[in-house]
Amino acid sequence: MRAVELIEKKRDGLSLTQKEIDFLIDGYVKGSIPDYQMSAFLMAVMFRGLNDLEQAYLTNAMLHSGEVIDLSPVAGVKVDKHSTGGVGDKTTLVVAPIVAACGAKLAKMSGRGLGHTGGTLDKLESIPGYRIEISSADFYKQVNEIGLAVIGQTANITPADKLLYSLRDVTGTVQSVGLIASSIMSKKLASGADKILLDVKVGSGAFMKTKEDAIELAKAMVAIGKNTGKETVAVLTNMDEPLGSAIGNSLEVIEAIDTLKGHGPKDFMELCFALSSELVLLAGLAKDIKEASKMVEAVIADKTALNKLRQMITYQKGNPNVIDDYDIFGTAKHKIKVLSRKDGYLAHVDAMNIGTAAMKLGAGRQTKEEAIDPVVGIMIQKKVGMKVSIGDTIAIIHSNGKNEEEAYEMIIDAFHIEENKITPQEIIIDIVR
Ligand code: URA
Repeated sequence: MRAVELIEKKRDGLSLTQKEIDFLIDGYVKGSIPDYQMSAFLMAVMFRGLNDLEQAYLTNAMLHSGEVIDLSPVAGVKVDKHSTGGVGDKTTLVVAPIVAACGAKLAKMSGRGLGHTGGTLDKLESIPGYRIEISSADFYKQVNEIGLAVIGQTANITPADKLLYSLRDVTGTVQSVGLIASSIMSKKLASGADKILLDVKVGSGAFMKTKEDAIELAKAMVAIGKNTGKETVAVLTNMDEPLGSAIGNSLEVIEAIDTLKGHGPKDFMELCFALSSELVLLAGLAKDIKEASKMVEAVIADKTALNKLRQMITYQKGNPNVIDDYDIFGTAKHKIKVLSRKDGYLAHVDAMNIGTAAMKLGAGRQTKEEAIDPVVGIMIQKKVGMKVSIGDTIAIIHSNGKNEEEAYEMIIDAFHIEENKITPQEIIIDIVR
């Protein structure tokens, strides 16, 4: 087999076999296929696409390029959720305790965030004492005993995806549905869960800007799940404004705790409840979505979900008293009100710019080495559809003095206020099963 023949085959619109895709991926990881040939292949894929089977083959090849996490020591149905990334997205902190309280197992190894705000691990580390590095034995023990754990990723999973993604980034080949779907699904399949729920964000603040593109991606990922024997459901959710109110690490943990207490922001509560219900159904714990939703509501009402989070924090050596006393997180020195310079109705909030403003304040990192300030961030005060008058507070900056003025102007620019009232988009746009 020669790489050039496979590049030509894809260039001419023909389909590749598992063996041929394995040859390309294996050769690229080992260095026998150079960047220029892989770049040409990726560009051919950009134009010709990959059919469902080729996507499953590519996913498989990347999945087996590294370690695959073995969750067999954990009893019961293991579920996992993945979000394609959004600003203010702290759903794991709420969904994991809810589904564990309903009887599923959610054993998550998470990565760190690069960009606007920290990832789930950074958010959890804003809880004093919380440890993300625990031994495999303790990880399995914890999940068996309490149903959930969120820890740092140490295994070398999908190295082929890491290499390919870096190459795609510099060769104009990121935006291919087949490549994105295989990239995301290879990582998810390597995480060892039995069932996968995908939260595919749609809108100005998301990777997929239109519903049509998001549906195409969702269908591709659900098909890969089917073709690799892991049931997968994708929920398309709105990202035309940041999720909930809080952006920033401890601020988001506090909002997640509020949500588990039953009084989080409306859009965030709705999303967490919908995702949790889908996961409970996927885990086979309810006969239909209606029953799953009732179970979710029940574990919120009787505080079992809240207590699951308390248990997780305790097991991972964090201070569980944060649940009842938010002062333990500490607080930023300055709280600066961002005042509207316009009258009208809020039409949309550029989530990416809000995320970048939060990063400038110190809530996120631009390079892996940068330290995060856990208490800084932004609290959004107006949601899409609301009336706004000049001088109204649209957001509150929580800052320790870094880039305050720049962040202030970025927030002003991110809020699009128009004359006519807009009906906000529902948070759940569609579901692909
Ligand atoms: N996220 C991923 O993990 N992979 C892609 O290709 C795009 C977004």
